[in-house]
Amino acid sequence: MQLSLLGWNQSFAAVFASHASAGLLAGRVIQQFNHIYTVATEDGELRAQLSGHLRYEAAPGQLPVTGDWVALRPSIQGTAQILAVLPRVTQFSRRAAGKADREQVIAANLDYAFLVTGLDNDFSPRRIERYLTAAWDSGSTPVVILNKLDLCADPASRIHAVERVACGTAIHAVSALRGDGLEELAPYCLPGKTVALLGSSGVGKSTLINRLLGSQSQSTQPVREDGRGRHTTTRRELLFCAQGGMVIDTPGMRELQLWSDDEALQTTFDEIETLARNCRYRDCRHQEEPGCAVRQAVNDGALSAERLSSLHKLQRELDWLDRREDPSAGPVERQRWKSIHKSAKRLKKESMKHT
Ligand code: GDP
Ligand code: ZN
Repeated sequence: MQLSLLGWNQSFAAVFASHASAGLLAGRVIQQFNHIYTVATEDGELRAQLSGHLRYEAAPGQLPVTGDWVALRPSIQGTAQILAVLPRVTQFSRRAAGKADREQVIAANLDYAFLVTGLDNDFSPRRIERYLTAAWDSGSTPVVILNKLDLCADPASRIHAVERVACGTAIHAVSALRGDGLEELAPYCLPGKTVALLGSSGVGKSTLINRLLGSQSQSTQPVREDGRGRHTTTRRELLFCAQGGMVIDTPGMRELQLWSDDEALQTTFDEIETLARNCRYRDCRHQEEPGCAVRQAVNDGALSAERLSSLHKLQRELDWLDRREDPSAGPVERQRWKSIHKSAKRLKKESMKHT
């Protein structure tokens, strides 16, 4: 495999120079499972493990993830040690729940983030806007994909609604099922380029990925998420498209669903609102503060860490909105955020009453 087909370029080569002179090999992580990595190199795929130094000295955010370029020392036949991770050009991360604000990197070196939503009843410009934030945060270029074109009687008005929130971002209406419009995606899936798909469950990400992979990749097809660990250890997370180009599809990327439905949001609020009454500080953000009843509930197993991290996510979104000061947000958007703000305020007031 030529490194350039994996996305290698002169900037990576420049930072790799010192490793190269130390006799190390460059490779791209195409899969990770526990502490075993599969790395694609010029000499083929190697199974690799972290060197002791990397394992014990690196900050958690600096350990290799799928998509990373690493410096390897090949050892016995077909295996290698990972000695270093090259600086990432882009990265998708989330904050790990529990210990406050520990960044957890999910995937690295993505060129494009395909933000997928359905043109059917699931259609939601609001959701697209949230995914846009995540994409810009990651450093990769967002591309909006409106799928299920075949189920939409009036795509033009929906495309227009998305244009209003996604100003300047490329928008493509496609049917992953029937194949309509897919040729528009070819310019992103060029050799050496890496894409990932974001979107709620059911919008058609798997169908689209299968389309991008084409016939050649059926044998390496990821098993469905509900496959409960079937083939987990052999599942590739960086996959090659029929046209060249790569798709990263990892559980972490799949779980990166920001507030995909209002119901979950409301439930989270209600639960945490009740718990927050017992926090020591009235403006507790349930992160590092002492006497935090919400974090205590997570420790006790009464509240899932996931829900708390959802709240933190929302707080960051609200902060972002405050900074953004965009008066041009559409009326639906404004209404929507007004109600979220109201919930957040109520949450704060409630906790004040009880301190
Ligand atoms: P994922 O959860 O985002 O990976 O979504 P899937 O790819 O599993 O698709 C969910 C459902 O939507 C499946 O039944 C697909 O066949 C269907 N689907 C995907 N793309 C299209 C499309 O363009 N048109 C229609 N009508 N159905 C689609
Ligand atoms: Zn608290």
